[in-house]
Formats: sequence, structure tokens, C-alpha cells
Amino acid sequence: MTGQAPLPPAPAYGSASVADVFTSAAAAMGDDDFANVLHLPAAKRICVVLVDGLGKSLLKQKGAHAPFLRSVVAADTAGEHPRTLHAAFPSTTATSLSSLGTGVVPGLHGMLGYDVLDPDQDKVVNLLGNWDDGVDPQQWQPFPTVFEQLQGRIPTATVSLPKFAHSPMTAAALRGSTFLGATSPQARVELAAQTLAAHPQMLMYLYWGELDKAGHSYGADSPQWEHQLEELDAAMKRLAATVPADTLILLTADHGMVDVPRNARIDYSQFPELVAGVRHTAGEPRMVQLYLEPDSTESVRDKLIAAWLERFANKAWVLTRNQAIDAGLFGEVRPEAASRIGDVLVIARDSIAFYDLRRVRPQAIEVVGQHGSITKAEREVPLLRIPVTQRAGGTQKLRKRR
Ligand SMILES: [Zn+2]
Repeated sequence: MTGQAPLPPAPAYGSASVADVFTSAAAAMGDDDFANVLHLPAAKRICVVLVDGLGKSLLKQKGAHAPFLRSVVAADTAGEHPRTLHAAFPSTTATSLSSLGTGVVPGLHGMLGYDVLDPDQDKVVNLLGNWDDGVDPQQWQPFPTVFEQLQGRIPTATVSLPKFAHSPMTAAALRGSTFLGATSPQARVELAAQTLAAHPQMLMYLYWGELDKAGHSYGADSPQWEHQLEELDAAMKRLAATVPADTLILLTADHGMVDVPRNARIDYSQFPELVAGVRHTAGEPRMVQLYLEPDSTESVRDKLIAAWLERFANKAWVLTRNQAIDAGLFGEVRPEAASRIGDVLVIARDSIAFYDLRRVRPQAIEVVGQHGSITKAEREVPLLRIPVTQRAGGTQKLRKRR
């Protein structure tokens, strides 16, 4: 870390992070096995809406496209719950959703990025859509999920896209709830409201992926992203008007997003000194994990770090695995998970992204909106409490708030 910009503090695991949402919700529903560290109000039914990629700063910047959510933020003055949570680190879906689902830190659940090294197979494995056949989700992530822990005590349900019903990611991090699939956002909102109405007590997880998708393709600063925010806003207004009156609706996210200009998306593999002694490359373009050859010496590692710093000292943090662990970025780390973390980590600070085009598809460099790093825009996500507007026994027209 010598000579580098100071690293932001570690995510607020255990007090105000995505890892604390389901556990606090379970406690707010009266389950004594969990602690309500987020100070959520007591409720019989809780619906956690997880909006992929909705950073706190983006919501603020683009508030004009989310009049309903903006009014919710403005009116949310009661209660002690934090209004901002931290994403897990790396700030990416596989990692943050695993912390949400298990209630534990990344260093324990071991879902340490979009793709990481599996030391047993000596190969890089994907932890999101293209899960590796050689990895058993249940062994890779052995901690019981919050849903599993609540079995027999509180009914739980996941409302998400049908394609995720049996995905390895679901099996690793979100197993143990009743899975309800619906393709369109509108159908998901309806299904959520109906299911909550049918259960006097329920913890529900409602996944929203459309915004992140638009952000990756077009950037968060695009009409397409703004359109998706408008869709989300309308859907949340509908959800609030249709769930039972005693439901607590919480909206949060797994990470934020930054747009990276085309000329700042860099193929680092073209610079021999940036991959010298490196056996595997993995991670996110904004949080690169470099794994050295097994017989590598400290001087090889130090040379590699110096080479990265020479080019990118004012645009990225470059850390050894132990420096990152000691900084608390992953929380407590179990030994098996530690061996999945790169020997050297390159963590983007500026609007920049790093690719190994020897390894990843050339289309990957077309991605505009990115995340993975620990900057404010990526790691700060909202925790919104959306007031239910339906009265017991009927629907009510929303009053316009200025
Ligand atoms: Zn994403």
C-alpha cells in the first residue's frame, strides 16, 4: 500500500451491509436465532426487493426517472434503520447475493467474485451463469442459507426469473425457499402480491435484474437504463398498492455501477510485465485477481505489483491477498476461501476496467456499466422502506406527493 491512495474502509459487515438484510428481517419477524442489526420494524410479512445494480448514488442522480421511489426516500424519516448499506466485496452479484442469502461475509461463504480460481482443479471457475461442472454448489458454499435456517419456522419464498429456479448460484446461496418463477416484471409483482396475501407470515425475496442488464449493455447514463428505472419505479408503486397492508417492503441492491469509457477498457494481457509469473487471471474487470505460479517467489510478486503500480498507481489500488484480507475487505476468511483469492488484486479506483483478452470473450470489452470495486458508486446501495398504500380489504388510490 506504500505510496498508494488510502483504501476506503472495509464494508460494514454485521452492521449495515447486504449480509444483514435477511438476518435482520428474520429477527424482525420474531425469530430469536437472528439479530436485528438493521433495526427493522417488527412485521409478519417482509418482502425484500433486490434490484441488481441500483447504486445509492445512481438512484439519487436519476431520481427524476423514479418519482415514486424519490418520494419514498424523502418521506422516510421514521425508524432507526440505516438508509445506506454496503455491498459485499467484490461488489458483484455472485458475492453480494451470497452474503444476502447466507447472512455471512464473503470470506466465509467463499463466493469471491464473478469468476475465481478453484485451487483443487487448478482452473478458473465461473460462479454466476456458467457454473463449472466440477464444482458442487453445496460444497463450495457450505453455510446454511437464512432460508434453510428458517425452515419449519417461517415460510419463505423467492420470486425471480424461471431460469434461476435450479441454477447453481441459487443452489449455492439462496437454497431452501419455495421458488416462484415469472418472466415479466409485471408478472413477478403480481405473483409476489398474491403469494404474500396467501401467507399470514412470510419472508419473501423478489429479484429484479433488468436494470443491471441495461447498465452493462448501454451504461447507467443511458436512456435504456433510465427507462428500466422508470419501469422499476412504476412496479414498486404497484407492489405497494397490492401487497397486504401489514407487509414491510424493503428495497435494496447488490452493488452499484460506474460507466467506463471505451478507451479506459484495457487489455492488460498485451503488457508482458503485467502478467509476468501469473498462472491464472480471474475476477471482475474492476477487481482483477492474479494468481501466481505455485513455485513463485516474493520477488516475482513484488515485481508484478511494481509493474501494475507504474502504469496505474493513480487509477487503481494494487494489493496482495494478505493486505486485502487484513483490510477486512472479505470479512473473516476461512482458509479454504483464502486460497480462492488472487495473490495480487487490482482494484479500480478511476473509471477504468481491465481485461485479459487471452482468456475472456472479445465481447466482454463492450460492456459499458461495470462494478466489482470498492468505490462509493459501486459499494453504496439504498435500503428503502416502501410504505404499503393498500388498506386492509381494498385498494386505495395513491396520493400525489410533491
Ligand atoms: Zn452486474
